[in-house]
Amino acid sequence: MNPLLVQMQELTKEPKIAYFSMEIGIANDIPTYSGGLGVLAGDTIKSAADLKLPMVAVTLISRKGYFTQEIDERGRQIELPTLWEPAKYMALASSKVYVQIEGRDVAIQAWLYIVKSLTGGSIPIFFLDTDIEGNSPEDREVTAHLYGGDLAYRLKQEIILGIGGVKMLHELGFEIKKYHMNEGHASLLTIELLLRYKRPIEDVWDERLVWDVSRVRDICVFTTHTPVEAGHDKFSYDLVVKILGEPIPLNVLKELGGKDNLNLTLLALNLSEFVNGVAKKHGEVSQSMFPGYEISAITNGVHTYTWTCDSLKRLYDKYLPGWANEPELFVRVGRVPDDELWAAHMEAKKILIDFVNAETNAGMDYETLTIGFARRATAYKRADLIFSDIERLERNAFGKIQFVYSGKAHPKDDQGKWLIERIHVIKERLKGKIKMAYIKNYDMDKALKLVSGVDVWLNTPLRPREASGTSGMKASHNGVMNFSVLDGWWIEGHIEGFTGWAIGPSPTEKTITDNAAMDKRDADDLYTKLENIIIPMYYNDRHTWVRMMQNAIGKNAYYFNSHRMMRRYVTEAYIR
Ligand SMILES: *Cc1c(COP(=O)(O)O)cnc(C)c1O
Repeated sequence: MNPLLVQMQELTKEPKIAYFSMEIGIANDIPTYSGGLGVLAGDTIKSAADLKLPMVAVTLISRKGYFTQEIDERGRQIELPTLWEPAKYMALASSKVYVQIEGRDVAIQAWLYIVKSLTGGSIPIFFLDTDIEGNSPEDREVTAHLYGGDLAYRLKQEIILGIGGVKMLHELGFEIKKYHMNEGHASLLTIELLLRYKRPIEDVWDERLVWDVSRVRDICVFTTHTPVEAGHDKFSYDLVVKILGEPIPLNVLKELGGKDNLNLTLLALNLSEFVNGVAKKHGEVSQSMFPGYEISAITNGVHTYTWTCDSLKRLYDKYLPGWANEPELFVRVGRVPDDELWAAHMEAKKILIDFVNAETNAGMDYETLTIGFARRATAYKRADLIFSDIERLERNAFGKIQFVYSGKAHPKDDQGKWLIERIHVIKERLKGKIKMAYIKNYDMDKALKLVSGVDVWLNTPLRPREASGTSGMKASHNGVMNFSVLDGWWIEGHIEGFTGWAIGPSPTEKTITDNAAMDKRDADDLYTKLENIIIPMYYNDRHTWVRMMQNAIGKNAYYFNSHRMMRRYVTEAYIR
């Protein structure tokens, strides 16, 4: 028998939780992710494999990736397609399914990639692909560019993911007990489920009862990631009818997905029994955005083994054996001798600094306090906040700090692109005074180098825009302290002067609504702590510094890992 068929028989043996995500970042050379959401999905799946959870994941193949970022000498971003060969990593399943797009039958195939854990657990991921002979050239492009194209393109992708995904799992022989939508992108799957659970008209006394909403609700779980209204996918019903048609009557869809527009978040909210935000604060923010729904919070975590650099892995193996599959063992990080922790950190720092110098000729050194900032380049993340008062920075930090930056801007985010240019302008301006580098084409490998090799991880989002943030958790796993605005996960992980440092007001303080005033307040606090606490401690009190590194591990990594997160999804969302 065909080995893939044997494998499929094995994989479909027991009922599964189906995890749907528009993007999954599972490995650096599989470029089907853009950033935090996809990497979180990958970490979720890796922990599920380690914990031997019965899960299957569905995403899109994104044959041209998100994009490969080049940056010219003036800091202008250039976007190139990321070309990769799925067949190098995955096996093509023999099943095909069809979805209707603009009245055409569009064929979908699926690539199988299996995430295997050393514990013996394994999770299949199916990457959906419309690049099949027989599909029109336009339809073949639908799974090419992650977050590319216009609204119509996005809707088509979401049809492939949600509706095509459910059909594909069914076709492959999976029995699914829960559907977990990672963000609203996947929520069209509820439409396919409504169709599958439709009651015969002769069995019901009211026509509307043919749609068994409560049965679909019973098996759906929805995680929202977006703390602002504008971030939710919305489509006009004209577009919906043109592209999707009316698989369920429009009046029924409007009741579930919104009167004026199809709001995929609303659709997911109405059809999920369990809904959560990705940090406590984000749960509250989402709750106030959607009154009338019960929104819980399960704070994100990162995959401990993936996000620990080699030198710290060796150290943890020596003093905390078993740590990778039981991050709770970080509670005993105090067993690690200070000098060995510092030496392991310096090893990671050397790797980063050598890499930065090779990439950019920044001429950085190993001794200077190194601050890292890397994430999506977009306005609310305020990459340039630390340069609000350049004279002050020059005056008080001359020769005492160096900066490593990285991050892509979405091709349509002009402000994000402008920020990358601005960082480049500032870099020129500070030449000879403060060393700076911008590492192009941020990805998972570079993220690990950065979060483990810097001394301080900086994060300056405008509150409450950071739903959770996860790169700071990665830093903690490597004994790197966070210096961050109190938003997202840091509200829960921060103990001042112990696990790291806060920037700006406490979360309970009323938010200043004037953005410029907020920038000023945050920047002042940032400078004050940098000058009076962080720089002096780094150079003059290594003992306290290393104590704080231990606390970052023992308190932050101990909790903000995806094993803890998955155990909570199991007990609160999957088994109920
Ligand atoms: C972790 C990660 C992110 C998310 O970082 P945030 O700080 O949460 O925005 C984005 N991109 C890559 C490549 C990552 O590894």
